[in-house]
Amino acid sequence: MTDNPLLAAWTTPFGVPPFASIAPEHFRPAFDQALAEHKAEIAAITGNAAAASFANTVDAFELAGRRLRRTSLVFYNLTGAETSDALQAIEREIAPVLSRHGSAIYLDDALFARFDALFARRAELGLTPEQDRVLERTHTGFRRAGAGRPPEVKARLAAISERLASLGTAFGQNVLADEKSWSLALNGAGDLAGLPDFLVNACAAAAAARGEAGHVVTLSRSLIEPFLQFSQRRDLREKAFAAWLARGEGGGASDNRAIIGETVALRAERAKLLGYETFAAFRLDDAMAKTPENALGLLRSVWAPARRRALEERDALQALAAAEGDNIEIAAWDWRYYAEKRRRAEFALDEGQIKPYLQLDKIVEAAFDTAHRLFGLNFAERKDVVAYHPDVRAFEVTDAAGAPVGLFLGDYFARESKRSGAWMSAYRGQERLAGDIKPIIVNVMNFAKAPAGEATLLSFDDARTLFHEFGHGLHGLLSDVTYPSIAGTSVVRDFVEFPSQLYEHWFERPEVLQRYAVHYKTGEPMPTALLDKLLASRNFNQGFATVEYVSSALVDLEMHLLSEAEGFDAGRFEQKILGEIEMPRAMVMRHRPPHFQHVFSGDGYSSAYYSYLWSEVLDADGFDAFLEAGDIFDAETARRLKEFVYSAGGKREADAAYRAFRGRDPDPSALLRKRGLVEIGADA
Ligand SMILES: [Zn+2]
Repeated sequence: MTDNPLLAAWTTPFGVPPFASIAPEHFRPAFDQALAEHKAEIAAITGNAAAASFANTVDAFELAGRRLRRTSLVFYNLTGAETSDALQAIEREIAPVLSRHGSAIYLDDALFARFDALFARRAELGLTPEQDRVLERTHTGFRRAGAGRPPEVKARLAAISERLASLGTAFGQNVLADEKSWSLALNGAGDLAGLPDFLVNACAAAAAARGEAGHVVTLSRSLIEPFLQFSQRRDLREKAFAAWLARGEGGGASDNRAIIGETVALRAERAKLLGYETFAAFRLDDAMAKTPENALGLLRSVWAPARRRALEERDALQALAAAEGDNIEIAAWDWRYYAEKRRRAEFALDEGQIKPYLQLDKIVEAAFDTAHRLFGLNFAERKDVVAYHPDVRAFEVTDAAGAPVGLFLGDYFARESKRSGAWMSAYRGQERLAGDIKPIIVNVMNFAKAPAGEATLLSFDDARTLFHEFGHGLHGLLSDVTYPSIAGTSVVRDFVEFPSQLYEHWFERPEVLQRYAVHYKTGEPMPTALLDKLLASRNFNQGFATVEYVSSALVDLEMHLLSEAEGFDAGRFEQKILGEIEMPRAMVMRHRPPHFQHVFSGDGYSSAYYSYLWSEVLDADGFDAFLEAGDIFDAETARRLKEFVYSAGGKREADAAYRAFRGRDPDPSALLRKRGLVEIGADA
């Protein structure tokens, strides 16, 4: 079967998947063989006549399913970043198959009995701390899947998982379909009114990518957000905004509302079967927050000051519109436009002025250099590595001694074959169990690509996103553990944003910007006055940013706090919660349920979108450790950060990992200070 590259050994540089020879039709046979192998490996563990030992059970379990993991990683990375009708068809077909396979393993009584026996006497096994942790995490994984429950309960849990896998797949494919099918042609100068050059160029590139002449706006965030920010045409802003807001809700085959209803009901049922009151209670029991009340408490403590700030911002925008003679009431499609004008008025700063200094290539370099100064890493581009799309760049990563660390892939540009958003993933995780295996990590973004021969310019937010995802990337690259199940980003969800959000802090420092924010034409560094203004305006529009995020997190949590969700109506529920929290009228959620991929394209952030804010308590407080040391690259602080966070995977409980790095628990007030939401004289 060596004519199927997915079943052969990979002799490429760094063992990257041989993308050029992989075709969609290779996946199904590879999955079939990999599933059969994994089943046989599991059967060998459960059928072992010898009593359970760590080696014959935990080690064997960790070592099993290699081909399945390798195949799945390639497959799901491609369906996210470079999909096709053929891959999507396989995705729909394979989702329930993989779910059944997973359920069969995690609901296997004989297998669980071996883990349970080991767990009961783990103190006597002479385990290393890491082994002890792996045993505990795996045992927890079995219990949370439903192992040990009566047969009829397990059968229902398996059926629920299988259905949820199909629903999650359909949800993501529907959002992509809606994003692909919509574009707005901009005809002539009138339609381009107000758009700066970089945006006109990006709209031309977007049209060209669709095989069209002229200019278009698409629903890609890096195109539509600046369009809403700059377009003087209120009618076009309204039209584009309405389409953006309606993703997943347009009626017809790609409408996600029924999927949401069924998903929420099935999650609630699963939680009940596992002995929890609600899905959120089930989910958060295995997170730092521990309970939904703790997560809600944090969100609500931020909601009130953020909402107050957003209303002040709205009043200021309304006044600005009036002063300009625009007889309108600020609506959601006006907010970014007038906010941009207000920023110009208050800080003498506009996006068009900043952007020429934020070149993609330079920001990538800045992210690498920061990793060099903190952790001694070196990055060398490898043109001989062939990835899955010509735009993807590959970098060999080595440590200060020149020893290999891993391979980093950067896939930065938006295209129709790519899911929206930005993310980090792995083609191969780090481990030492099956040999000294180095990770292959990828960052995927959706930046609007400049026309050929021109530098791609980023917004300040885009550049920060690049640092964010690179922070996740380092969490994967620096991973230094033995067991694959706890490597890299395999930590609880509300801790996983800590390494990524922490990394954003370095981007926003003059020490970094002075060196890497250089003009794309002249090569001149950003003038100090501009840099100062930029950093001074950091918290501009923070009421808006916080409200659009926290409202999304609250709706997510509340949906999953229903103990009965039969006949759940997502639209009505969204309106109800937004009414209760008194969402400002001129604002919408950052992600409305019909396109909330974090929550419904699989289980990743379900009832856990609050995780960003939870982790922000840590990053706001954590970066202070460097400031207190008087050097944002302080070697000793960086060493602790690497040891206890970036390289540690899931070796420790998250709060213990934080304490080991910081020497104490986080100070929650750092969060409001960072967002600039503490009013002078207020006791918030
Ligand atoms: Zn993240």
